[in-house]
Amino acid sequence: TIGLLAMDEAGNISGACTTSGWAYKLHGRVGDSPIIGAGLYVDNEIGGAVATGLGEAVIRVSGSHLVVELMRQGKSPQEACQLAVERIIAKHDDLTGLQVGFLALNKKGEVGAYSVYNGFNYGLKSKDQDELIDAP
Ligand code: ASP
Repeated sequence: TIGLLAMDEAGNISGACTTSGWAYKLHGRVGDSPIIGAGLYVDNEIGGAVATGLGEAVIRVSGSHLVVELMRQGKSPQEACQLAVERIIAKHDDLTGLQVGFLALNKKGEVGAYSVYNGFNYGLKSKDQDELIDAP
């Protein structure tokens, strides 16, 4: 999955995601990416979030919506992404192959990302920054 969050000069936030889905998926499977609130969620009053990884795990906690709601409650994008990942981890006895990552942006232009396992990178582009960052 490729997830994208953007803020314009007026501070409006938008988001998008695209995916090929899960490898060897059953015909008819619907992953998290096409479900608003799971793979993608934006509330222009608060911020936006996108997800990647095992869609079933993301759907189970309405992951991107959860991240945005945690930001609404005052969490930073980084804290919100970590809490959402921890929620998913808590719901699984076996984490084998369970990679999930979230990326978030709030109205202040702060960003955060967190994933179950290392190896989740994101690009950050602004007037002052243009870098590839490893999510914790
Ligand atoms: N989230 C996608 C899905 O479960 C898979 C991916 O991130 O590549 O369909």
